[in-house]
Amino acid sequence: MLDYHMHTTVRDGKHSIDEMIEFAILKGLTEVGISEHWGLWPDDWEEYFGSEKYLGIEFKELKTKKIAPYSMRGSLHKYFLMLKDAKEKFKDQIIVKSGLEMDLYESNLDQSVDLVMTYKPDYIIGAIHALNGIGYHSFESLDNVTEDDYENILKAYIGFAKRGKFQILGHFEDYRSFNPMEDESRFYDLYEELICACKENDIAIEFNTSLLLYKYRIDPNLFWLKTCAKYEVPVIITSDAHNKYTIADKFDFTFTLLQQAGVKLTAKFTDCVMEKEEIDYKEALSFIFFWPLEKPWVI
Ligand SMILES: [Zn+2]
Ligand SMILES: [Zn+2]
Repeated sequence: MLDYHMHTTVRDGKHSIDEMIEFAILKGLTEVGISEHWGLWPDDWEEYFGSEKYLGIEFKELKTKKIAPYSMRGSLHKYFLMLKDAKEKFKDQIIVKSGLEMDLYESNLDQSVDLVMTYKPDYIIGAIHALNGIGYHSFESLDNVTEDDYENILKAYIGFAKRGKFQILGHFEDYRSFNPMEDESRFYDLYEELICACKENDIAIEFNTSLLLYKYRIDPNLFWLKTCAKYEVPVIITSDAHNKYTIADKFDFTFTLLQQAGVKLTAKFTDCVMEKEEIDYKEALSFIFFWPLEKPWVI
């Protein structure tokens, strides 16, 4: 059992890299991947962040230092050294993978990936965190996401997936979780196009269980999962945990959903190479996702 998407005190998580890994061991995972936020400041920033007024007082400093708003502030070099140490420290207890959640921007995608690859990560999760002024740089903006915004974000994800520069497609459906819609079938063609683009470029698709915390519908999930099954595109369940208590959160429910949709394949990554694997549902569904020990009410 693995969880490849989680954050730490390096950026916006509550617990350190070691604390996250220790809790993953306690939860019984066999493999854990740390994937901190990182992104270079994009030249086409207005297309993503809209007006600079949403970027607050940090705006000029971030632009000067070439750091994207949602990125970790420290050095990438130091981050990967920390992960290297963690791999060594925990090697007898759990497999630790060095990942990254990379902000996707049109103007600097190649440059960003080239830079990250010099640190030899195990995988890059590609994720859009802002588009047309809406995004995590302004939580206010996320309250007003429209169906058209969601369509734009899906189209942008398709464009990025076609460039094949990352290994895992990150939370492509998060915009819809903020403002639930009556009927999402108008997006199903775009889901299919996105999944086909992933297939062509050896990209696995994540099912991000953190979205299940919000008002979230099951039928579109079943649709896109069935489409992954149809095209044999691997699905990776991730928690996007920002504290140790939500590592592998809701995996039991999600595996049930994957099984219902007929998904057969998941994937692992080492040195950015995908290893497809059949999902062992017997094992996955018998896995005991207990609430361990301390402060189980914290989310
Ligand atoms: Zn994200
Ligand atoms: Zn994340």
